[in-house]
Amino acid sequence: MVVIMKPGTKKEDVNSVVTYVKGMGLDVVLNQGINYTVLGLIGDTGKIDPDKLMLNEHVDRVMRIAEPFKKASRKFHPENTVVKVGDAEIGRDKGFTVIAGPCSVESEAQMTEVANGVKKSGAKLLRGGAYKPRTSPYSFQGLALEGLEILKEAREQTGLPIVTEIMSPALVERFERDVDVIQVGARNMQNFDLLKELGKCSKPILLKRGLSATIEEWLMSAEYILAGGNENVILCERGIRTFETYTRNTLDLSAIPAVKKLSHLPVIVDPSHSAGMSWMVEPLSLAAMAVGADGLIIEVHNCPEKALCDGAQSLNLAQFDSLMKKMTGMGRNIGLNI
Ligand code: PEP
Ligand code: MN
Repeated sequence: MVVIMKPGTKKEDVNSVVTYVKGMGLDVVLNQGINYTVLGLIGDTGKIDPDKLMLNEHVDRVMRIAEPFKKASRKFHPENTVVKVGDAEIGRDKGFTVIAGPCSVESEAQMTEVANGVKKSGAKLLRGGAYKPRTSPYSFQGLALEGLEILKEAREQTGLPIVTEIMSPALVERFERDVDVIQVGARNMQNFDLLKELGKCSKPILLKRGLSATIEEWLMSAEYILAGGNENVILCERGIRTFETYTRNTLDLSAIPAVKKLSHLPVIVDPSHSAGMSWMVEPLSLAAMAVGADGLIIEVHNCPEKALCDGAQSLNLAQFDSLMKKMTGMGRNIGLNI
């Protein structure tokens, strides 16, 4: 972090800033120019609040040099993190993992059909929401604990690990016991109490990008989980809010190479919530593969027309199978072990 003092600041006023910074346990390198004095702060600048420094009338500007995330940063952890779940190694170089299943768990028959279908087509993990974050309180809210039991049954039948969304910190213990990958939805990306609890948890976390979150905010949320001691975080780009209304969200494909550069964490794409329309899932999936995503999470339903949630963006089993075949072909062409 660099602090630039206002032109002509007296030595004793510079010293008061130096004393404050040193008092926070940091070192200071002082550069005295003709007009400006520039202080280079060395150490854990995460403890320093730039806005507080700006309160000093002699401070002109404060600039961060390092990113505020540390444990999520590739600078401090150059090798890719690989999250191992069942047969899948998410984040493995040249690997590509597909997670598939319905938006919501609706019944045992629905989950059995979808789980067997997506497994046959090559999905490595099964998704399904038991607790649903719905905009309207009158919409289907999910089967809650009954949904979790149905998911466990589908895992039992297929061997596919299960991914499902958590909304309340009160359920972390239960999810840690029953679920293989715990999903944090876009709406809870900045539920810091939830993130702190998940930091203490032993299961991998799938952290979706918030509706209007910057990449830095998203990585700071991952930092909460990592800082608590849980190193198995998978990031998921699921589209962001923009002025465009044609699609449900705007898939930010550039976030994939950006996150890969900034962080060692695996990053996957959710083309279903990005587009909101099933016919767009295929081109977005292929695009995600081309920009270097580590995998996909795709909504698949045995009968999308009758789905209780997100039917319009769900693939049926035949469409999913056809997409998996195309992705296998493309993956091989671009050197993935798929
Ligand atoms: C979901 O995965 O069903 C979901 C609600 O996703 P998001 O949090 O990305 O909206
Ligand atoms: Mn959904």
